[in-house]
Amino acid sequence: MTHTVGLIGCPVAHSRSPQMHNAAFAALGLDWRYVLLPTAPDQIASVLQRLRGGELRGVNVTIPHKQAVLPFLDELDSTAVSIGAINTIVVNGDRLMGYNTDVIGFYRALCEVNASVSERSCAVLGAGGSARAVLSVLLTLGACVSVYARDVVKARLALEYEGSIRAWDELKRIDPDTALVVNTTPVGMSPQIDASPWPDNLPLPTQTLAFDLIYNPPRTRWMMQAEQSGARSINGLSMLLHQGAEAFKLWTGCDAPIDVMRVALEVDH
Ligand code: NAP
Repeated sequence: MTHTVGLIGCPVAHSRSPQMHNAAFAALGLDWRYVLLPTAPDQIASVLQRLRGGELRGVNVTIPHKQAVLPFLDELDSTAVSIGAINTIVVNGDRLMGYNTDVIGFYRALCEVNASVSERSCAVLGAGGSARAVLSVLLTLGACVSVYARDVVKARLALEYEGSIRAWDELKRIDPDTALVVNTTPVGMSPQIDASPWPDNLPLPTQTLAFDLIYNPPRTRWMMQAEQSGARSINGLSMLLHQGAEAFKLWTGCDAPIDVMRVALEVDH
């Protein structure tokens, strides 16, 4: 019997996870498939019931459900507990286990570009599920992090972060020595490709690496703004790869064929 895993979120049409995972299953000769499962907030309970019923072996969880699914799970791994958001569910017997592989995904993506953030100023745009993973990695690496959110009070409660949380218009006063700015908002994601979270006519600090978690489109409007300011930019494709590789191992028990997955992501991109 073919084992099915998939992606729950709203929207999910932009996702490249099916190409990546289905290439990996084929390369290892596994009778598994990865499907998109568009899920509105009021459908979470019924989709998770399909996991308990054995129809699905696991799922990835994306925007906006990374925190909303928590009450439906039986157990969280230690990283997921400390982050307070998950992106991967594994069915283990009749139990649903939650994991956060965005943490390792973001960390490995940063390592790939040799980003050095220790004792440097870094900025995180947005305060949702993936911001928690990004913030945790940056603080572990010794960065001085400012989070920019459209609702500062809500962000402080959600992130449980004692450090600097600023309103969006405070970006005008961003530290010019900022080493890294990470966009964790969905602003600029396909199909809204003309949108950017960054104010018009505000240059990014020139020494910054602009890291957009968005990977579709591969070059977002914000990345273009960064390049026009003389800054470097990368998209979220390598984070997607590494978080996906970790989820693959959790579901199948097999080491993920990273090179196959990377090629699958880069095709048509
Ligand atoms: P989420 O939990 O819904 O969080 C989104 C955050 O963005 C929230 O803080 C939200 O603010 C903020 N936001 C939304 N629209 C905004 C706007 N117009 N202006 C300012 N802030 C805005 O979503 P998520 O799961 O963290 O995902 C966010 C993005 O990261 C998505 O594009 C997702 O595809 C991407 N992502 C990529 C990877 C990867 O592997 N590359 C991994 C994870 C996520 P409010 O709280 O005020 O609504």
